Amino acid sequence: MPNIVVVGAGVSGLTSAYLLSKDGANTITVVAKHMPGDYDIEYASPWAGANVLPMATKASSRWERQTWPELKKLAEEVPEAGIHKMKSRVYRREKDLEKLRNGAYAFDGLFLEDPWYKTLFDDFRELSKDELPQDVASGAEFTSVCINTMLYLPWLLGKCRANGVAFRRGVLKHISEAAAWSQTGSKVDLVVNTTGLMASRLGGVLDQDVIPVRGQVVVVRNEAPYMVTKSGTNDAEDEVFYIMMRAAGGGTILGGTYQKGQWESQPDPNIAMRIMKRAVEMVPELADGKGVQGLDVVRHGVGLRPYRNGGVRLDKEKIDGTWVVHNYGHAGWGYQGSYGCAERVVELASEALNQAKL
Ligand code: FAD
Repeated sequence: MPNIVVVGAGVSGLTSAYLLSKDGANTITVVAKHMPGDYDIEYASPWAGANVLPMATKASSRWERQTWPELKKLAEEVPEAGIHKMKSRVYRREKDLEKLRNGAYAFDGLFLEDPWYKTLFDDFRELSKDELPQDVASGAEFTSVCINTMLYLPWLLGKCRANGVAFRRGVLKHISEAAAWSQTGSKVDLVVNTTGLMASRLGGVLDQDVIPVRGQVVVVRNEAPYMVTKSGTNDAEDEVFYIMMRAAGGGTILGGTYQKGQWESQPDPNIAMRIMKRAVEMVPELADGKGVQGLDVVRHGVGLRPYRNGGVRLDKEKIDGTWVVHNYGHAGWGYQGSYGCAERVVELASEALNQAKL
């Protein structure tokens, strides 16, 4: 019976543990410093919107392609998972498109014209000129999903527990310490490392390519008519614009920022004001046309996206004689790539366990 310890209980750890636990032969323990229900600057998952807006380029789209059908199915068939379907608009500004065409736009595949993901969504369509706001050159609309992370993370944890996964609180200084956390107390065959941003500080890993990308948000009670994002803002290079409404009363998330290398955990009130202004200017009906005054704030928040130079780390290595499968560094797409990445974890785990038998 393979004895597996997963380090981390964010969306990457929980989805990895869940898919591994579908094989009844595996004995699995999840150990983590933070668990669903916690809010902490070292724990990205609760802060995410979270919706599905494909960010990969076509070449690296595997994780998002594999995840979309799973999240769509949950939205359609499993209300208790806390996911719903919602129309989503993507607006492209001319000045960002110019940068994109010249290869000078270091963002992501989301704002490409004629994107690969147009075939992913059943109802993808380009918006007509008369549907576009003033400073927008072109745009698209499709039905996406929005995840209420406060419901979805505990739901995933529950699915794991139903399959026999044990959960333990613990803080590891070195990845090799994972072996001591198994629910059986016997020798661990495999460790899965899903420590997100903190992979940069975990002994045995110390991945210096992992850096925070700070995301400040405002959560409001107002309901949004649709989700929307725009390729840039006039306020600052590292400020972004998006609105998404979580399922089942989870509130509407107004974003945001994309500040590379910044660890600041406290919301900046000036940024918060700009986030709210941009939201009501772009979607006045969000606040019944009353502007920022018409927004009913639940909370201001900051999360750190676990960005990795060179992209997500999904591979395996032997550390101090034990196989470790790494699954960290998902930046701003950890949910929308979660099932694809966790499926890869299952493949890598099987390869490692077979090699260990030789
Ligand atoms: P985390 O959630 O950070 O979990 C890491 C886990 O490892 C925690 O349990 C932690 O306690 C544990 N850990 C770390 N170090 C140790 C240690 N030494 N010992 C024990 N335990 C340890 N993604 C989307 O797909 N869609 C979105 O719309 C979206 N919006 C976002 C908006 C914002 C503002 C932010 C901040 C992020 C957003 N994301 C979105 C990105 C998404 O939140 C992340 O990619 C994802 O949550 C990363 O999950 P993770 O499990 O890898 O890491």
